[in-house]
Amino acid sequence: MSGSLTTLGIPKTISTEVEARRIQAKADGETLRAAFSRNQLRRDNVDWVVTVFLIFVHVGCFAAFVPAFFSWQALAICLVMHWVTCSIGICLGYHRYLAHKSFKLRAPAEFFVMLAGSLSGEGSPMTWAATHRLHHQKSDQDGDPHSPLIGAWWSHILWLFVKRKRTDQELLCRKYIPELTERPMMQFFEKTFAMWLWAQGLALIAAGWAVGGWQMAVSFVVWGMCVRMTAAYHTTWLINSATHLWGYRNYDTRDESRNLWWVAMLAYGEGWHNNHHAHPSVAPSGHRWWEIDMTWWVIRVLKATGLAYDVKSKIPTGRKANDVDTDDTSVASPSLSEAVA
Ligand SMILES: [Zn+2]
Ligand SMILES: [Zn+2]
Repeated sequence: MSGSLTTLGIPKTISTEVEARRIQAKADGETLRAAFSRNQLRRDNVDWVVTVFLIFVHVGCFAAFVPAFFSWQALAICLVMHWVTCSIGICLGYHRYLAHKSFKLRAPAEFFVMLAGSLSGEGSPMTWAATHRLHHQKSDQDGDPHSPLIGAWWSHILWLFVKRKRTDQELLCRKYIPELTERPMMQFFEKTFAMWLWAQGLALIAAGWAVGGWQMAVSFVVWGMCVRMTAAYHTTWLINSATHLWGYRNYDTRDESRNLWWVAMLAYGEGWHNNHHAHPSVAPSGHRWWEIDMTWWVIRVLKATGLAYDVKSKIPTGRKANDVDTDDTSVASPSLSEAVA
């Protein structure tokens, strides 16, 4: 009997298993660190689908300077879709709901916010949430997918141009969003997020054509997709770059996160990024009375209508450095601890 026990009384088979898991977790962490490192951006390792799409959307903005392609209807579509996709889709849906579990949503509301996120052109919900959790766990340290300490342009846009292996993507999801990978709605959007984006373009062309012929169709696409998406891209990217560089700090976090008022205004409250890094699972990101958070207003409406529930709304007091809340299951689950063990 004693031959199967260690000196601490732990069966050898268990301690071997724990050791094997620790070694595997370390190897996985190393794989992801390499996958997101700056030196992956090489001419032979560019994700051309992402790169060409982003160039196309940006170049399309130049057509907005042509007076013939301006229309008030298209401007209205641009503003409404910017709010729907950026605030509701990304800030509320992908970020606070999916990546941080700051509240729960009834199924119809969940479908709508995931659809809004897909229409933003920022990729699938699962990849977004997994990459974001990695950012929180490694923020401004080795392994952060987009720290401006590596380079401001790297954190703003360049990190998106890297082609990453399918196996690395799968590992990222397995490690960082284990509770989401098997969910049918997540799998549905994983398979269809690009299709929704193209359907959106076709719908804008059809609507514009019906309203005012080919000129209006171009107007709808230029303002409703190119201008709106470019604006939304840069406002959300500023959170990765500017709010880890400039602004003030309410909390002594271990990273360089900052609260930056003008990014908060542009990005529907997400610019209070030091507050967010200090307490990632708290639903409101404005922690002082003047820190306006438009996305939080929508969460309150969803809560009032019963579409959102279990909202984590308690704003912490003090300046305690608390990057990973002990009650924050979105960034401190056992599987994540293993990932960096
Ligand atoms: Zn951050
Ligand atoms: Zn976050």
